Amino acid sequence: MLKKFIFLVTLILILCGCSQKKDFEEIKTVVEENKDVLIGINYPVTGNKILDQDIINYVENKYNIFKNKYRGFKLLLDKSELNIDYDYNIINDKYINVIIYAYIKSSNFINPIIEYKTFLFNKKENKYVNIKDIVSDPKKLIYDVNSKLVKLNKKANLNTTILNNFFIDNNNITLYFHEKNNYYSIILPTNDYLDVEASFNKIESYYAKSVNKIIDPSKPVLALTFDDGPSKYTKKIIDILNENDANATFFILGNKANIYSDTLNYMINSGNEIGNHSYNHKWLTKLTSEEIKDQLNKTQEIIKSITGYTPIIMRPTYGSINDNLRNSSNLQLIMWNVDSNDWKLKNSKKIANRIINSVNDGDIILMHDTYNWTMEAVKIIVPKLIKEGYQFITVSELNEIKLLRNNRQ
Ligand code: ZN
Repeated sequence: MLKKFIFLVTLILILCGCSQKKDFEEIKTVVEENKDVLIGINYPVTGNKILDQDIINYVENKYNIFKNKYRGFKLLLDKSELNIDYDYNIINDKYINVIIYAYIKSSNFINPIIEYKTFLFNKKENKYVNIKDIVSDPKKLIYDVNSKLVKLNKKANLNTTILNNFFIDNNNITLYFHEKNNYYSIILPTNDYLDVEASFNKIESYYAKSVNKIIDPSKPVLALTFDDGPSKYTKKIIDILNENDANATFFILGNKANIYSDTLNYMINSGNEIGNHSYNHKWLTKLTSEEIKDQLNKTQEIIKSITGYTPIIMRPTYGSINDNLRNSSNLQLIMWNVDSNDWKLKNSKKIANRIINSVNDGDIILMHDTYNWTMEAVKIIVPKLIKEGYQFITVSELNEIKLLRNNRQ
């Protein structure tokens, strides 16, 4: 619930996981704000009663401690923050590995702190397991952890019971330790301790939307949107966005998705949004309701099967909308305010100038990730407008920012 309040100070909103729902799980989201606290919480519901109850207990505990101890900033120009987010791995169909991150900012601490809490649960036997239960050689693990601790000037002589805070993926085992309010981690290569190929099949990693993505609603925002892809230029465009800590929204065609499945996963894992742009670019307003549903549903299914993500927005082909289209889908129809005319201009500098000279806070910009010159234009536009103070966010994030700003008036 976003409460109305008088807007006195600059507010940092941490958006997390809100728009990237995975199908295998449910995500609980709590957002709360008033004049002195900002709380954003996401946690997973795995379907296992014991594990889910323990996750809820942990999150509630963090929430209560925060509300009782850390709320109310002593400096008038800032507010306390609690942000909880998570990642989630499934190991060999048997184990669920969950990590909960809690970011706490308060005048009780000089610097914000991030706490790490992990769970490794054997869902076949309905019990928690320690890392020593799953690694091939626990002694080697302890020895290696000790060596690393000594190098960090930390106390060694660990036994395995202390190694209960860890997160495993295909590449790394990350073990978390804390002293006072500080957490530190040790990273070991997974392959040295687990035969991932042979005995663990593969570890499936599911990540929440990029953790602690910080958007300042008091500063200008823009949503770049790309239609008609993916194409051979799309990956490059995502690279450019990543280099600039920027995100965009890609309205893709279902019939191109399988050819670029890696690109789609890269897109979503980099914090971008995927929207639906029909299966093969049919003029949707000239189709029957059944045909429209077929165009959209097929595309939803393909995106879901590749990325696990189900889009919630669509861009009508040719920007054409009628009641039949509106009534044939639950997806939100997204148009644009600024047209790059990239298909016509065919020149990166002209495209960049046109956009840079015409954008305003809150605009949605139409481009196509199917042209080389558009990719080149993104290289110019994104750093230039970031310098001018703009933040590049996804369409769904833009919707949330607009909602937040409306609530504030
Ligand atoms: Zn199109």
